[in-house]
Amino acid sequence: MDDTQLSSDLTRVLYSKEEVAARMRELAAQIDEDYADKDLLLVGVLNGAVMVMADLSRALAIHCRMDWMAVSSYGSGTQSSGVVRILKDLSTDITGVHVLVVEDIIDTGLTLSYLISNLRSRNPASLKVMTAFRKPEAAQNAVEVAYVGFDIPNEFVVGYGLDYDGHYRNLTSVGTLAPHVYS
Ligand code: 5GP
Ligand code: MG
Ligand code: MG
Repeated sequence: MDDTQLSSDLTRVLYSKEEVAARMRELAAQIDEDYADKDLLLVGVLNGAVMVMADLSRALAIHCRMDWMAVSSYGSGTQSSGVVRILKDLSTDITGVHVLVVEDIIDTGLTLSYLISNLRSRNPASLKVMTAFRKPEAAQNAVEVAYVGFDIPNEFVVGYGLDYDGHYRNLTSVGTLAPHVYS
Protein backbone atom coordinates (compact mmCIF):
# COMPACT_ATOMS: atom_id res chain seq x y z
CA MET A 1 0.00 0.00 0.00
CA ASP A 2 1.09 3.58 -0.66
CA ASP A 3 2.07 6.05 2.06
CA THR A 4 0.21 4.19 4.80
CA GLN A 5 1.55 6.29 7.68
CA LEU A 6 0.46 9.50 5.97
CA SER A 7 -2.83 8.34 4.48
CA SER A 8 -4.06 7.00 7.82
CA ASP A 9 -4.50 10.66 8.86
CA LEU A 10 -7.06 11.29 6.11
CA THR A 11 -10.80 11.16 6.63
CA ARG A 12 -11.43 11.09 2.93
CA VAL A 13 -9.35 10.59 -0.19
CA LEU A 14 -10.49 12.97 -2.93
CA TYR A 15 -8.10 11.71 -5.59
CA SER A 16 -5.78 8.73 -5.65
CA LYS A 17 -2.21 8.83 -6.90
CA GLU A 18 -3.38 7.16 -10.12
CA GLU A 19 -6.23 9.62 -10.70
CA VAL A 20 -3.94 12.59 -10.19
CA ALA A 21 -1.31 11.10 -12.52
CA ALA A 22 -3.91 10.43 -15.23
CA ARG A 23 -5.23 14.00 -15.07
CA MET A 24 -1.72 15.46 -15.23
CA ARG A 25 -1.09 13.43 -18.40
CA GLU A 26 -4.32 14.79 -19.94
CA LEU A 27 -3.31 18.37 -19.19
CA ALA A 28 0.19 17.73 -20.51
CA ALA A 29 -1.28 16.51 -23.81
CA GLN A 30 -3.28 19.76 -24.12
CA ILE A 31 -0.22 21.83 -23.29
CA ASP A 32 1.81 19.87 -25.87
CA GLU A 33 -0.69 20.97 -28.51
CA ASP A 34 -1.05 24.56 -27.36
CA TYR A 35 2.70 25.18 -27.14
CA ALA A 36 3.86 22.93 -29.97
CA ASP A 37 5.63 25.73 -31.81
CA LYS A 38 6.56 27.87 -28.80
CA ASP A 39 9.48 28.22 -26.44
CA LEU A 40 7.79 27.33 -23.15
CA LEU A 41 8.92 28.37 -19.68
CA LEU A 42 7.18 26.68 -16.76
CA VAL A 43 7.21 28.84 -13.63
CA GLY A 44 6.60 26.79 -10.51
CA VAL A 45 5.38 28.48 -7.35
CA LEU A 46 7.29 27.06 -4.38
CA ASN A 47 6.82 25.00 -2.29
CA GLY A 48 3.46 23.49 -3.16
CA ALA A 49 3.94 23.19 -6.92
CA VAL A 50 7.00 20.95 -6.72
CA MET A 51 5.07 17.70 -7.28
CA VAL A 52 2.84 19.19 -10.00
CA MET A 53 5.88 20.55 -11.81
CA ALA A 54 7.73 17.25 -11.60
CA ASP A 55 4.81 15.26 -13.00
CA LEU A 56 3.51 17.76 -15.56
CA SER A 57 6.92 18.57 -17.03
CA ARG A 58 7.82 14.91 -17.45
CA ALA A 59 4.47 14.16 -19.07
CA LEU A 60 5.16 16.79 -21.74
CA ALA A 61 6.45 15.69 -25.12
CA ILE A 62 7.65 19.20 -26.05
CA HIS A 63 10.72 21.05 -24.86
CA CYS A 64 10.32 23.30 -21.86
CA ARG A 65 12.44 25.17 -19.38
CA MET A 66 11.65 25.51 -15.70
CA ASP A 67 12.09 28.31 -13.22
CA TRP A 68 10.77 28.94 -9.73
CA MET A 69 9.32 31.66 -7.58
CA ALA A 70 8.63 31.65 -3.88
CA VAL A 71 6.05 34.01 -2.46
CA SER A 72 4.61 34.51 0.97
CA SER A 73 1.15 35.94 1.42
CA TYR A 74 0.65 37.91 4.59
CA GLY A 75 -2.51 37.08 6.44
CA SER A 76 -3.85 35.60 9.60
CA GLY A 77 -3.31 31.86 9.57
CA THR A 78 -5.36 30.16 6.92
CA GLN A 79 -6.76 33.33 5.31
CA SER A 80 -4.99 34.76 2.31
CA SER A 81 -4.71 38.56 2.41
CA GLY A 82 -3.59 39.33 -1.12
CA VAL A 83 -0.54 41.16 0.20
CA VAL A 84 2.31 39.18 -1.25
CA ARG A 85 6.04 39.30 -0.74
CA ILE A 86 8.50 37.73 -3.19
CA LEU A 87 10.88 35.49 -1.24
CA LYS A 88 12.61 34.11 -4.32
CA ASP A 89 12.37 35.68 -7.74
CA LEU A 90 12.88 34.08 -11.15
CA SER A 91 16.42 33.47 -12.38
CA THR A 92 15.22 34.01 -15.94
CA ASP A 93 14.36 37.18 -17.88
CA ILE A 94 10.85 36.42 -19.17
CA THR A 95 10.63 39.30 -21.66
CA GLY A 96 9.22 37.83 -24.89
CA VAL A 97 8.93 34.36 -23.35
CA HIS A 98 5.84 32.14 -23.29
CA VAL A 99 5.24 31.66 -19.56
CA LEU A 100 3.00 29.07 -17.95
CA VAL A 101 2.62 29.49 -14.19
CA VAL A 102 2.34 26.12 -12.44
CA GLU A 103 0.32 26.19 -9.20
CA ASP A 104 -0.70 23.60 -6.63
CA ILE A 105 -4.05 25.08 -5.62
CA ILE A 106 -6.05 28.24 -6.09
CA ASP A 107 -8.28 29.15 -3.18
CA THR A 108 -9.19 32.86 -3.17
CA GLY A 109 -6.86 33.52 -6.08
CA LEU A 110 -5.41 36.55 -4.31
CA THR A 111 -1.87 35.21 -4.33
CA LEU A 112 -2.14 34.38 -8.00
CA SER A 113 -3.63 37.79 -8.93
CA TYR A 114 -0.60 39.48 -7.46
CA LEU A 115 1.77 37.08 -9.18
CA ILE A 116 0.09 37.53 -12.55
CA SER A 117 0.23 41.33 -12.49
CA ASN A 118 3.83 41.17 -11.34
CA LEU A 119 4.82 38.79 -14.17
CA ARG A 120 2.76 40.66 -16.78
CA SER A 121 4.74 43.84 -16.08
CA ARG A 122 7.85 42.00 -17.31
CA ASN A 123 6.31 41.72 -20.81
CA PRO A 124 6.26 37.97 -21.50
CA ALA A 125 5.12 36.88 -25.00
CA SER A 126 2.21 35.13 -23.29
CA LEU A 127 1.17 34.35 -19.74
CA LYS A 128 -1.12 31.51 -18.72
CA VAL A 129 -1.83 29.54 -15.56
CA MET A 130 -2.07 25.85 -14.80
CA THR A 131 -3.22 24.58 -11.41
CA ALA A 132 -3.65 21.08 -10.04
CA PHE A 133 -6.59 22.07 -7.82
CA ARG A 134 -9.06 24.94 -7.64
CA LYS A 135 -11.63 25.85 -5.01
CA PRO A 136 -15.03 27.53 -5.64
CA GLU A 137 -14.02 30.88 -4.14
CA ALA A 138 -11.51 31.40 -6.95
CA ALA A 139 -14.45 32.23 -9.23
CA GLN A 140 -15.04 35.45 -7.27
CA ASN A 141 -11.68 36.84 -8.28
CA ALA A 142 -11.15 37.30 -11.96
CA VAL A 143 -8.20 35.00 -12.34
CA GLU A 144 -8.18 33.27 -15.67
CA VAL A 145 -6.85 29.75 -15.40
CA ALA A 146 -6.15 27.97 -18.67
CA TYR A 147 -5.58 24.48 -17.26
CA VAL A 148 -7.29 23.08 -14.15
CA GLY A 149 -6.61 19.59 -12.83
CA PHE A 150 -9.59 19.30 -10.51
CA ASP A 151 -12.27 21.64 -9.18
CA ILE A 152 -12.66 20.65 -5.53
CA PRO A 153 -15.06 21.55 -2.69
CA ASN A 154 -14.20 24.30 -0.21
CA GLU A 155 -12.31 22.03 2.19
CA PHE A 156 -8.74 22.03 3.42
CA VAL A 157 -6.83 19.31 1.61
CA VAL A 158 -3.33 17.89 1.87
CA GLY A 159 -1.06 15.77 -0.28
CA TYR A 160 0.53 16.07 -3.71
CA GLY A 161 2.62 19.03 -2.55
CA LEU A 162 -0.05 20.54 -0.30
CA ASP A 163 0.92 20.76 3.36
CA TYR A 164 -0.50 21.03 6.82
CA ASP A 165 2.12 22.69 9.03
CA GLY A 166 4.83 21.58 6.61
CA HIS A 167 3.74 17.94 6.59
CA TYR A 168 1.90 15.73 4.05
CA ARG A 169 3.48 17.23 0.94
CA ASN A 170 4.86 13.76 0.15
CA LEU A 171 1.48 12.07 0.42
CA THR A 172 0.82 10.82 -3.12
CA SER A 173 -2.99 11.04 -2.94
CA VAL A 174 -5.02 14.13 -2.04
CA GLY A 175 -7.52 14.20 0.78
CA THR A 176 -9.00 15.87 3.84
CA LEU A 177 -7.30 15.61 7.22
CA ALA A 178 -8.80 13.81 10.19
CA PRO A 179 -9.75 16.07 13.14
CA HIS A 180 -7.31 14.26 15.48
CA VAL A 181 -4.44 15.79 13.50
CA TYR A 182 -5.50 19.32 14.47
CA SER A 183 -5.90 18.60 18.20
P1 5GP B 1 -5.09 31.91 -2.30
O1 5GP B 1 -4.30 33.19 -2.38
O2 5GP B 1 -5.51 31.40 -3.64
O3 5GP B 1 -6.24 32.03 -1.35
O4 5GP B 1 -4.15 30.88 -1.58
C1 5GP B 1 -3.40 29.93 -2.28
C2 5GP B 1 -2.44 29.23 -1.34
O5 5GP B 1 -3.08 28.89 -0.09
C3 5GP B 1 -1.96 27.92 -1.93
O6 5GP B 1 -0.81 28.09 -2.71
C4 5GP B 1 -1.73 27.08 -0.68
O7 5GP B 1 -0.45 27.33 -0.17
C5 5GP B 1 -2.74 27.58 0.32
N1 5GP B 1 -3.96 26.75 0.31
C6 5GP B 1 -5.19 27.10 -0.12
N2 5GP B 1 -6.07 26.10 0.03
C7 5GP B 1 -5.38 25.06 0.57
C8 5GP B 1 -5.74 23.73 0.96
O8 5GP B 1 -6.87 23.24 0.86
N3 5GP B 1 -4.74 22.95 1.47
C9 5GP B 1 -3.47 23.41 1.63
N4 5GP B 1 -2.57 22.56 2.13
N5 5GP B 1 -3.09 24.66 1.26
C10 5GP B 1 -4.04 25.48 0.75
MG1 MG C 1 0.58 27.72 -4.46
MG1 MG D 1 0.91 25.71 2.85
